[in-house]
Amino acid sequence: MGGKVDYSVVDGPGPFSFRISGSNYHSIGTLLPRPNCKPTFAQLYIYDTEDEEKNRISTVQGRSGRFVIDEAVVLGIKQMLDSINPYVKSFRYGRDFLSNNGVVDLRIRILQHRSKDARQYNLPTTSEVDALMVGDGSEDVEQRDIVVCTNDGHLQRISECHPSYMALQYPLLFPYGEDKGKTLIRSGSAFQQFVVDAYAAIEEQRLLWVRRNQNNLRTDLLRGLQDAIASGDHNAAVVGRRMLLPSTFTGGPRYMAQSCQDAMAICQWYGPPDLFITFTCNSKWEEVTSALKLIPGQRVEDRPDIVARVFNIKKKQLINDLREKKVFGRVIADIHVVEFQKRGLPHAHILITLAKEDKIVTQEDVDAFISAEIPDKDTNPEAYEIVLRSMIHGPCSDKNPNSPCMVKDVCTKNYLKSYKSFTTIDENGFPVYRQRKDGRKPIVRGRKISN
Ligand SMILES: [Zn+2]
Repeated sequence: MGGKVDYSVVDGPGPFSFRISGSNYHSIGTLLPRPNCKPTFAQLYIYDTEDEEKNRISTVQGRSGRFVIDEAVVLGIKQMLDSINPYVKSFRYGRDFLSNNGVVDLRIRILQHRSKDARQYNLPTTSEVDALMVGDGSEDVEQRDIVVCTNDGHLQRISECHPSYMALQYPLLFPYGEDKGKTLIRSGSAFQQFVVDAYAAIEEQRLLWVRRNQNNLRTDLLRGLQDAIASGDHNAAVVGRRMLLPSTFTGGPRYMAQSCQDAMAICQWYGPPDLFITFTCNSKWEEVTSALKLIPGQRVEDRPDIVARVFNIKKKQLINDLREKKVFGRVIADIHVVEFQKRGLPHAHILITLAKEDKIVTQEDVDAFISAEIPDKDTNPEAYEIVLRSMIHGPCSDKNPNSPCMVKDVCTKNYLKSYKSFTTIDENGFPVYRQRKDGRKPIVRGRKISN
């Protein structure tokens, strides 16, 4: 895999997370290693197969050195792939051919098109996926076919449109060389890597389309109007052709600028928003945990798809509650943005503009909607439990100077806050919430806390 893997995230503490940057691609090397080099990747199927298990183990351990690898497991996986995986079988044919004929110019060609029974999810057979060729490589080869040579020293890039793209990279996720993995969601952290990989391939195709359709994207208009603010266009000495990403490319600079301008236009028309609501994802939600239980042993970080879906359903419901059920009054405008944190949990920031008659004006209005106090255990046990479990900051300050929020012995989030008998509205129009001294001191994370 050719992307830049960000190991600072992969190896750090906390749940597994897979992140890459830059352009991602898969390459395939040669059938034989270079002189005095150890066999790696596909070469392990062909070269020095007497010691294959040891070679495999040393390849993996060489990179990290901290895993204990069971030789029996490696042997078992090898035997399984030998018997069922069409690509492994092809490489074994190559090995037999080379050992019978000495080193000749052998090529294994992995075909892009499958001529025989091409029903979508059929398992490919060995004769469908490849062809062995002996020759100098001047044969007619389709553009996207993968041709693995004996030893020309080059890495070859595999087109992400090639049907074998994923099956070659993840033999254990696609053990039969199939096009649609059956073990994907059971594969733990490898599933995350696969999802990232697959998304990168999709994005690569979208970028390719943009690159080839520059003339259709009305780039003159973009250059003239929307990019007037961006510098650099006026300098004719800038060499090279500039590619413009349209605003329909999610995450691109024009997409971000357009969304921002839309939000500003909404605020200009309806007035400044009244409520700023942060909606966070909880990986312990019952919907998430019960979906995880369908496959035993799954951890929440192994299934970002479930987390994202449940979050999206709940976020839609929340916005529906705000708009239709008018929890805070009549909503005339709402804007929201969803962000994903480093570890993959999403959260949404929601801005709500209320109708004139429902605006929050007085201290009583604020107190009716917002409480910064610990709820009463007897009258509101559910809220009490949620607040103590999920909403308490710290402990920090002198009780815990090593808390991540502490910078130079001061809490960056301005805790602990002082008691306030009333809600007030400061000179900038922002409320300062009521936090009464009620003497209750529940225990959170082993420490007594107060309002
Ligand atoms: Zn703090």
